[in-house]
Amino acid sequence: MKIVCIGRNYVEHIHELNNEVPEEPVIFIKPDSALLRNNAPFFIPDFSKDVHYEVELVIKIKKIGKHVPLQFAPDYFEEIALGIDFTARDVQSYLKAKGLPWEKAKGFDHSAVISSFLPIDRFDLNNLNFRLEKNGKVVQEGNTKQMINDFAHIISHTSEYFTLKIGDYIFTGTPKGVGPVASGDHLVGFIENEKMFDFKVM
Ligand code: MG
Repeated sequence: MKIVCIGRNYVEHIHELNNEVPEEPVIFIKPDSALLRNNAPFFIPDFSKDVHYEVELVIKIKKIGKHVPLQFAPDYFEEIALGIDFTARDVQSYLKAKGLPWEKAKGFDHSAVISSFLPIDRFDLNNLNFRLEKNGKVVQEGNTKQMINDFAHIISHTSEYFTLKIGDYIFTGTPKGVGPVASGDHLVGFIENEKMFDFKVM
């Protein structure tokens, strides 16, 4: 199983980090050791003083795909979850400035929170709202209408480079509003009005 992540997929988030709008999807991968599930607490790693939450919709691949044509890409997933792409922003900024890979900032242990999955047939994927609350206050709100690349484009493009396998996860990008977490924070995420995860930061 691999965890594929799409970066810079929401315009307002690109602007808040002073990045350029990419010409094609930005892709990185987290190892399976990054997974954090079942509302387990997240422990801030010692190597960072600025770990950020990034709330993202996550899809699960249901069949093997390589060079998936765009028109068939919607057949490759049927479940959706909400996740957090935890990012050591200070480490990432250092690596970006040096032109180095992001893995230490993005792929560390438990940096990929994923909720349980729901069938997509109960949602309108072209107009799907999701949000993150920190300590009872909404800090990020997104809608799939704001995505630069929709789910089908992400699957098709990713599968040109990486064979997609059954059970792979794809994080599909974060909307604006990313920010730091501190010990004691309480994070709760929703897709529409369904509570998807609810856990503590330690
Ligand atoms: Mg992200």
